Amino acid sequence: MIELRDIIVHGLPPFFIGACVGSFLNVCIYRIPLGKSVVTPGSRCAACGAGIRWWNNLPILSWFLLRGRAVCCGTRIDFRYALVEALTAGLFLALWRCYGVTAPWLAVIYMVFVAALVVATFIDFDYYIIPDRITLGCCVAGLSLSAAAPELHGAVSWSAGLLRSAAGLITGGGLLWAVAVVGRRVFRKEAMGFGDVKFLAGMGALLGWQAVVFIVAVSSLAGAACGIMVMMVSGWRRELRIPYAPYLALAAVVWVLGGWRVMAWYSEFLIGNR
Ligand SMILES: [Zn+2]
Repeated sequence: MIELRDIIVHGLPPFFIGACVGSFLNVCIYRIPLGKSVVTPGSRCAACGAGIRWWNNLPILSWFLLRGRAVCCGTRIDFRYALVEALTAGLFLALWRCYGVTAPWLAVIYMVFVAALVVATFIDFDYYIIPDRITLGCCVAGLSLSAAAPELHGAVSWSAGLLRSAAGLITGGGLLWAVAVVGRRVFRKEAMGFGDVKFLAGMGALLGWQAVVFIVAVSSLAGAACGIMVMMVSGWRRELRIPYAPYLALAAVVWVLGGWRVMAWYSEFLIGNR
C-alpha cells in the first residue's frame, strides 16, 4: 500500500501540472503561428468564438466527457487537444521521476524545455515552420540558464556553464547549418530549414555538445525510418515533405530522460577497446 500512496503523492502532482500546462500548450500551438497573443483573450471555441467555461475545459477529461464535440456549436474537437495534454502530463511525470528527488530545479527547467519541444513539434506538423519565438527563445534561455544553473552541464562555476552552453550552441547550429548549405548545393532545393538549425542550436545551448551529437544521430535515424514508412504507405511520392522538428524533439527528450547515460557508457566502451 505504501507504493500506491507513493505513486499518488509523487506522481499525481507532476501529472496534473503537466496536463494543465498541456492545455496551455494547445493554445500556443494554435495561436503562435497566427501571430496572436497566447494570454488574452481566454479560451475560445476555434469554430464559433464563444468563450469556454472552465468545467468544459478540463485537461484530457473534457474531450471524453463532451465526446469530442464543442458545447457551444457542436463542432467536432480534434482528439489532438487531449493527446497534447496527455503527452505533456506523461512527460512531466517522467521528468519528475528522473530528477525530482536529486535535482528538482533541473526537473523544472527540463519541464519548461519539453513544453517548448511539444509546441515546436505540433507547429512544425501543421505549418512546416518552427517560430523564432521558440528556437531563439531556447538559445537565449539555454545560455542564461546555463550561467544561472551550471549543474546543467555538470559544471560548478557560472563561467564554465556558460562556456559549455556556448560550445553546445555553436556545435548544434554549426552542424545543421553545414547540412543546410551542402544540401542546398547538392539537391538544389531546401534540404534543411533554418528553423531546424536554430532549434538544434537552442538544444545545444541547454544540453551541451554531447547531446547535439546524440540528437543528430537519433533524430536522423528515426526520421529516415518514419520517412521510408510514410513513403511506402503513400506510394513513393517524391515531393513529400517531412517535418524534422518532431524527430529533433523526440531525440532531445530521450537524451534528457536517460540517453546521456547511454552516450556516457558508449564513449567509455570505445575508449576501453582502444
Ligand atoms: Zn463553438
